[in-house]
Amino acid sequence: MKNYDVIVIGGGPAGLAAAESACKAGAKTAVIEREARLGGILKQCVHDGFGLIRFGEKLAGPEYAERYIDLVKALPVDAYTLTFVTAAEKTADGFRITCVSREGMLDLSAKAVVLATGCRERTAKQVLIQGTRPAGVFTAGTAQNFVNLMGKLPTKKCVILGSGDIGLIMARRLTLEGAEVEGVYEVKPEPSGLTRNIHQCLHDFNIPLHLSHTVTRVFGADRLTAVEVAEVDEKMKPIKGTERRVECDALILSVGLIPENELAETLGVKLNPATKGPDCDQTYMTSVDGVFSAGNALNVFDLVDYVSECAADAGANAARFAPSGSSVRLEKGKGLLSYVPHRIDLTKPTDRVVFFFRSAKDMDRGTLRLIADGKEVYKKKFSFLRPPEMQRVEIDLSAFGLTAKSKLSVELEEN
Ligand SMILES: Cc1cc2nc3c(=O)[nH]c(=O)nc-3n(C[C@H](O)[C@H](O)[C@H](O)COP(=O)(O)OP(=O)(O)OC[C@H]3O[C@@H](n4cnc5c(N)ncnc54)[C@H](O)[C@@H]3O)c2cc1C
Repeated sequence: MKNYDVIVIGGGPAGLAAAESACKAGAKTAVIEREARLGGILKQCVHDGFGLIRFGEKLAGPEYAERYIDLVKALPVDAYTLTFVTAAEKTADGFRITCVSREGMLDLSAKAVVLATGCRERTAKQVLIQGTRPAGVFTAGTAQNFVNLMGKLPTKKCVILGSGDIGLIMARRLTLEGAEVEGVYEVKPEPSGLTRNIHQCLHDFNIPLHLSHTVTRVFGADRLTAVEVAEVDEKMKPIKGTERRVECDALILSVGLIPENELAETLGVKLNPATKGPDCDQTYMTSVDGVFSAGNALNVFDLVDYVSECAADAGANAARFAPSGSSVRLEKGKGLLSYVPHRIDLTKPTDRVVFFFRSAKDMDRGTLRLIADGKEVYKKKFSFLRPPEMQRVEIDLSAFGLTAKSKLSVELEEN
């Protein structure tokens, strides 16, 4: 068995940033990736817009990934590729990580683990569409993989269900590659993707966005031949009489991402119902001492730059891991959809807590407030808040006199 101080599971942008910072903090580090190449999902994101915050440059996904691959390769980090972590278990002095690789089973041990396993896309089964089960129903990520990595066009004319960012980006990509995107249909009354993607991917290419609409049926035997779309009411139920048949050969789904946390669950890590990722403290340590979480496995981020930032902190904290001490829960007040961290460990630094949050609804202006024992201890105003767009703020909690008995909550008030 090979022994490490820190093992990072997942070699995407989060895993790479975590491995880099853990190694730089003096830990003997390994990063394990199931695919043949490091870089995670960014390998297939050939459009630009990555790295504006982190590098002050507009990079394509593979370029952004390459920067981190180069940083990691320059360090004494053991990078295992084509190696799938199948089990992780707690031992008396750390963790045992079991992997399957081309050479067979591999057993590794570590004092601390960073889970950077990314997220996966919701599929057709999770959105309940009636009809047959023909070929031609893809998630947007699968369509992206076909076009950008395999050089294959999976459709001549398609409908996109869901206005998540990957769907919007694929609407543009497929159009540029010569396919017709009949329209993007979104069940909610407002789009799910970033505003910049609505403009750059739909408006600039005259692709219609149908809000409060959904796909109710698919048709076709071997291959999809058409879908039925309908308007929905305020309860998101299809309105009778509004159905319309659209002839097309593919239905592309962009209906949400779910953090991938099977390994976390087998380790007994508690998941947060709002983020669907691990419940964590300000060092990104989960409810299990020595298990850290980073990137989209922790919380689906909208910008990879934030993924790298949080993962770099998680990696450095894993390298100097200390068991959890007394902590205060950060209770969810009104106006917030989700946030990290969920608790503050008072035995760890509290002078620079990076707080990522999403608003529960669109707000032109809102005020974020922290209330400790009934007293407002922090506030910050924000403008143009939208649920898909994550906000970041640094808060110094060290001056608030928090104790394990404190009641701490966070809320977002619309102004
Ligand atoms: C299909 C898709 C397309 C996206 N497109 C964009 C985009 O265009 N723009 C954008 O800003 N964001 C995009 N995102 C969001 C993107 O996921 C993040 O910006 C970023 O890639 C997250 O980094 P990560 O390292 O957390 O996850 P990922 O990049 O997903 O990396 C996780 C890695 O962990 C590996 N892994 C998982 N489980 C195991 C295991 N058991 N053993 C070994 N390895 C494992 C995976 O193979 C993967 O390489 C997209 C997400 C998806 C799912």
